Amino acid sequence: MKITVTVIKADVGGIGGHTRPSDGLLNAVKNMVRSQMIRNGKGLLIDSYMGYCGDDIHIVMTHTRGTDNKEIHQLAWRAFEAATKVAKNEGLYGAGQDLLKDSFSGNVKGMGPGVAEMTFEERPNEAFTIYAADKTEPGAFNYPFYRMFVDTLSNTGLIVNKNLASGVKINVMDVEKGKIAQLVMWQDKPTLEAALMYPGRYVVSSVYTRDNQPILAASTDRLHNIAGKYVGKDDPICIIRTQKDFPATEEAGSAFSNPHLVAGNTRGSHHMPLMPVKLNSSASINYAIPIVSALVFSMHNGKLVGPVDGFGTADWDYVRQIAVERAIAIRSQGFVHPATLVPEELEYAEGYRARMNVLWSKMRPISDAKGHQMHPQKPQQIAKPQQPTKPQQAPTSKPAQKPQQKPTPKMAKKIKKSRQVKAPAQTQ
Ligand code: MG
Ligand code: MG
Repeated sequence: MKITVTVIKADVGGIGGHTRPSDGLLNAVKNMVRSQMIRNGKGLLIDSYMGYCGDDIHIVMTHTRGTDNKEIHQLAWRAFEAATKVAKNEGLYGAGQDLLKDSFSGNVKGMGPGVAEMTFEERPNEAFTIYAADKTEPGAFNYPFYRMFVDTLSNTGLIVNKNLASGVKINVMDVEKGKIAQLVMWQDKPTLEAALMYPGRYVVSSVYTRDNQPILAASTDRLHNIAGKYVGKDDPICIIRTQKDFPATEEAGSAFSNPHLVAGNTRGSHHMPLMPVKLNSSASINYAIPIVSALVFSMHNGKLVGPVDGFGTADWDYVRQIAVERAIAIRSQGFVHPATLVPEELEYAEGYRARMNVLWSKMRPISDAKGHQMHPQKPQQIAKPQQPTKPQQAPTSKPAQKPQQKPTPKMAKKIKKSRQVKAPAQTQ
């Protein structure tokens, strides 16, 4: 049976800031989505689940309508619209923040909410995990994805599982230019590594086996490109199928065990570690440490069982402690880069530009000790080293091929000048 799993997420308001949605807001989403569960042959959805990570609500939907389906996307849009109404009535912060368009136009992609979805032939015991993050950007998943699908030191399955050992296909999106490249492991490994070096621009959007079974789908929208200005971090979400031909559930999960530094946080302008958290956690008010939660599901005929809280066990408390220690360490250097993002990535660029305009207006040329203005020197021309002269040939009896012409006065001047060029110093 072919099933589509669609996850759509949005931030439409938080209590007292960017913390978490209110219960009223969650109920508005749940009521709208549950009204479309299939009953007596009517409705859209086989099953659904709703939760949140920080201030982002995620709607998990299973159905048979395929990806990019208008009715499914519209249902999520309407649910977020209903929630926005509640958020406005409750005075929540950032009400409707991620709904960037006034009316639905067929697909939520490019309208603000994040989408990850995939259609596949359901296995008898289908297993998948959804990773939902807050206070960061889609490229935050690059590092754990690399550990899952490329790094054998992180994932032994890449050695001992025949399917994974043959390599996967990884689609990398250039989120600035809106282009995508398919990189095939293992021959494209260094190219993938070059791309993943810069998570602000190159983002893993999907992963397939060599025989084109879908393993992973991630949201890759970048809100500030959509809106033309900063409107909130584009917190990512992804679906990863696990077990059998794919990474084991725990091989995927453990890829998040080393809280790496990601962009995001307060004002979306800092680098901090990505901290694994329990399901339905509020965002931290400790400078909004980026967070990620793991929803572990089983599915049969599109019916969901779960989620199990992937990062809810005791061992993850230790990882959380590492994340907090790293967070405090990088915050200890305040605004000094790399605690902050590079200027082009500073989300509140208007304020930053205003400050820099003041700085530039105060800039004056630098004078030397005698009070003369110092101008940037023209770059020195690097003299080409002279070709070593050929050793003098012993005079032969052969006459010169062409008799030397008597130089004109102009030529003589040129020759004299050229002889004044110093030959490069000879090494001993
Ligand atoms: Mg928010
Ligand atoms: Mg958020």
